[in-house]
Amino acid sequence: HTAKRGQSGCEVYAPSMDAASQESLSLLSELRHAIDAGELRLFLQPKVDLHRQRIAGAEALVRWEHPTRGLVPPMEFIPFAEQTGFIRQITAWMLHASAQTWINLQREGLAVPISVNLSTRDLMDQDLPIKVADLVAGVPPSALCLEITESAIMDDPQRALQTLEQLHALGFKLSIDDFGTGYSSLAYLKQLSVDELKIDRSFVMNMERDIDDAKIVRSTIELAHNLGLSVVAEGLETAKAWTLLQTLGCDQGQGYLLARPMPGEQFAQWLRTWQPPDLGDARASTILA
Ligand code: C2E
Ligand code: MG
Ligand code: MG
Ligand code: MG
Repeated sequence: HTAKRGQSGCEVYAPSMDAASQESLSLLSELRHAIDAGELRLFLQPKVDLHRQRIAGAEALVRWEHPTRGLVPPMEFIPFAEQTGFIRQITAWMLHASAQTWINLQREGLAVPISVNLSTRDLMDQDLPIKVADLVAGVPPSALCLEITESAIMDDPQRALQTLEQLHALGFKLSIDDFGTGYSSLAYLKQLSVDELKIDRSFVMNMERDIDDAKIVRSTIELAHNLGLSVVAEGLETAKAWTLLQTLGCDQGQGYLLARPMPGEQFAQWLRTWQPPDLGDARASTILA
């Protein structure tokens, strides 16, 4: 029997078929089928430049349109896909779909950089840089940003460093996702050729009521800027948060205040009609004064 490292770091064994493994097996075959049957969907969520009040990009987020279960959110199948290695096929699908989306947007004069999420398994693939370049041929690499979580990097930092270095050399932008939630090492962060850091939404969503979260947001922005990185706040839900982030010098925001993730086909129309929110009454919180 083979033992694999599960996503949580615990050992996962493959013993004789019990109910749970039978269910996993059927989920895996369903997932395989999902790609062939065209059931994966690319959703886009905009990112805004907080100072210029302009849309600065969009993040591609996967959904599974299951014939009976409806629209399945990524947290219900991505962890499983990571455990089984099937994530690589999903990543490939997302990269290709993102490239198509970018090309369509560009035709309409609406192109913005698109961010795609990578997982640990992707980073462990020696051929990842070549595969990425291949899948997004026709899109300038600088129009594509690859998001990686701290924990994905820390799984095997040497190897991740190498892969990220190659992706960077090919011209792709790199971003650290969910910053502050994983265990990461500043020593590695310093060595990485990343361009952007995304503050995890748990801090941003709580910063108006919790002084500690506000301090974490403030020092993360400072850290990012000191390292020459651009910084994005996830979980931007209120006009007040926008104003506070602006005051703290945060570069970009992403969250429900702007829009929930939407089907790729709706995004062009959304971009055409978007207006910056009226921040008039949203005075910067004095929580950090
Ligand atoms: P993430 O990469 O950190 O993506 C941001 C998540 O936060 C998205 O959830 C988004 O809908 C949600 N979000 C954005 N703004 C707000 C807000 O203002 N409030 C709240 N409460 N939530 C907000 P989603 O789409 O459910 O994705 C969850 C996670 O699943 C992603 O987190 C990412 O880790 C993973 N994921 C999604 N698509 C992919 C993919 O194509 N590949 C991989 N490897 N992972 C993916
Ligand atoms: Mg992300
Ligand atoms: Mg994130
Ligand atoms: Mg997150």
